[in-house]
Amino acid sequence: VAKSRGKGRVVHFDRALREEIERQRHIERDLATAIKDGQIFANYQIQVDLASGRLSGAEALARWRHPVLGDISPVEFIPIAESAGDIVELGYSILRQACRDALLFPNEIPVSVNLSIAQTMDDKLVSTVTRILGETGLPASRLKLEVTESVLMHDAERVVVALQELQSIGVSIALDDFGTGYSSLAYLRNFRWNELKIDRSFVRSVLDEPLDLIIIRAVRMLAEEIGAKVIVEGVETVEQERILKAVHCDIGQGFLYGRPVSAEDLPATILRAHASASLEHVPPADFD
Ligand code: C2E
Ligand code: MG
Ligand code: MG
Ligand code: MG
Repeated sequence: VAKSRGKGRVVHFDRALREEIERQRHIERDLATAIKDGQIFANYQIQVDLASGRLSGAEALARWRHPVLGDISPVEFIPIAESAGDIVELGYSILRQACRDALLFPNEIPVSVNLSIAQTMDDKLVSTVTRILGETGLPASRLKLEVTESVLMHDAERVVVALQELQSIGVSIALDDFGTGYSSLAYLRNFRWNELKIDRSFVRSVLDEPLDLIIIRAVRMLAEEIGAKVIVEGVETVEQERILKAVHCDIGQGFLYGRPVSAEDLPATILRAHASASLEHVPPADFD
């Protein structure tokens, strides 16, 4: 009996694996068309200045509404786009949308856009960002690009040069998911980050795990010394917010303030954040 049950599990596992591979192939096959057809678009999640409670920015997050498979998470399609070679195209498509949409954001807040490893390795990164800014008319000072530590694992010198060029035209560079992956202090020595985004895994347990708070405070002190701002990701409760304010983190982002929404729904999300008092009141005249 045990043997046949074991065998059944193998068959079951085999089928699940085959379905998974089939789904990945489906996604890979449809990627290029989806980018061209606008099935992949940017949603925006607001960021809040913790000291003043004011709106301080919004992050563009890619979404895919697939006609057959339904909504697919970027956690699933970004890695597939990376291995299939569509990620550079996809990344610039999101960047273009974000720069265009940001022109309509209230209070001239900046927009943050995630850059993939392949984009940071792209020879045309600086020229493409410059061109998209020119075409859309968004001032460079209103664009922030987020990269993860992993971009500095390959050909770090070349990537650093490209990121510095972007900074020289006025674009800010943020280190995303800080504290996860292969964190190395060398990444802080070799490049002047404008922002450190502390990964949400540290925020999640900040009330229960003393070490998480100790780490956040240490990062915050380090950031101050190197002239970078600290953003905390994944703020979900007022209790978390209170403690993060107490240790002087600069900016908060998370479901407490709002989930990622389409550009059209952003004003409503901002109004809701005001109504729930997670955001200070901004004069209505500031809305577009
Ligand atoms: P990320 O850049 O670290 O983005 C933050 C993620 O945390 C988003 O997931 C966001 O929806 C989620 N999040 C925000 N607040 C909360 C919260 O309070 N609680 C929890 N549990 N989660 C929260 P999302 O949208 O699924 O994106 C996942 C990742 O996919 C992003 O992580 C980013 O690495 C990648 N990604 C998304 N869009 C793009 C893109 O246009 N280009 C590239 N290269 N990567 C992207
Ligand atoms: Mg990000
Ligand atoms: Mg992150
Ligand atoms: Mg992340």
